[in-house]
Amino acid sequence: MGEPHYEEFFDLSLDPLVTAGFDGYIKRASPAWERTLGWSEDELRAVPYTEFIHPDDRERAVAEVTALAGGAESQDFELRIRGRDGSYGVFLFNAIGVPDQGLLYAVAKDITHRGELERRAADLERSNEELERFAYVASHDLSEPLRMVSGFVSLLQSRYADRLDDDAGEFMRYIVDGVERMQALIRDLLSYSRVGRAELEHEPVAMGPLVQRVLEGMQTSIDETDATIEVGDLPTVRGDASQLVQLVQNLVVNALKFTGGEPPVVRITAARDGDEWAFAVADEGIGIDPEFDERIFQVFQRLHGPNEYPGTGVGLAICRAIAERHGGRIWVESTPGEGSVFRFTLPA
Ligand code: ADP
Repeated sequence: MGEPHYEEFFDLSLDPLVTAGFDGYIKRASPAWERTLGWSEDELRAVPYTEFIHPDDRERAVAEVTALAGGAESQDFELRIRGRDGSYGVFLFNAIGVPDQGLLYAVAKDITHRGELERRAADLERSNEELERFAYVASHDLSEPLRMVSGFVSLLQSRYADRLDDDAGEFMRYIVDGVERMQALIRDLLSYSRVGRAELEHEPVAMGPLVQRVLEGMQTSIDETDATIEVGDLPTVRGDASQLVQLVQNLVVNALKFTGGEPPVVRITAARDGDEWAFAVADEGIGIDPEFDERIFQVFQRLHGPNEYPGTGVGLAICRAIAERHGGRIWVESTPGEGSVFRFTLPA
């Protein structure tokens, strides 16, 4: 066995490595610097390395180097380093000084985007929680006055029916319609906020029997629409049965609803995809313009007026919340006029 070739590690490293003299010049810089900041090794060696350090970080860098020159080892100090395009990247350094060589050895990690990602994830989580809380409070507090409106409208209808003229009777019907619609919106908003708030069970759920149960519950609308429903072999997944029922049910309800009038044809299948199961609920209905394939998953977003197709626009938002809480995704693939395939994944 020959001598180990440590030099190769230097060139192979995915993170930037550097050795610098106590004279303030870089001696060796690994190729990873060029990939992260754009500087070649020659360029880095040409000028004192402080030139590459953000002016506000230089004092700190010098203090670190002074300690290293005394033979210290220092960990996790952050410096902003200027790239070839003039922008600064944030690097985390571990370094050691070797006084008898007059050198310091440093390994760096590019963490420019780390803070940003964490911040964005935290922001997103916070805004989701706020949205759920808002949805809950709004729907809860709105139902109370609405109950009052609907109660008194019923009283007016029952006690004053014979004293109201035709116009008044018609206006009353509009009021009742409006109230009912509002109640439906609030009810669905409340169930949306519950999906995010509920404690999630993690039990084995056999999707075949679950889908059968969903279909039995919908037998009336299946008969009424003369629908054909085919169900393939479905696996067992881990999750919350009651939420998965809602997920499947909302998709099947839509598949039966958004047809051009012909009897609906629905296929429910699953296929293994790596460490996930990919489920599909396919219909031959009106389809969805790809332009709207993200929007339909947002709360209250619908592509039709309530008179064309009834609904509140919450169903798919609930589906998305459920899929994501289970660590999966949901999306639609559709050809307008030919049908839609709603796909969702669940971890196997
Ligand atoms: P709702 O069904 O109450 O309108 P959803 O959130 O379930 O609310 O759906 C949002 C919108 O997405 C629907 O209004 C419809 O425009 C569209 N959509 C959903 N499912 C289908 C489908 N299977 N085929 C065509 N369009 C659909």
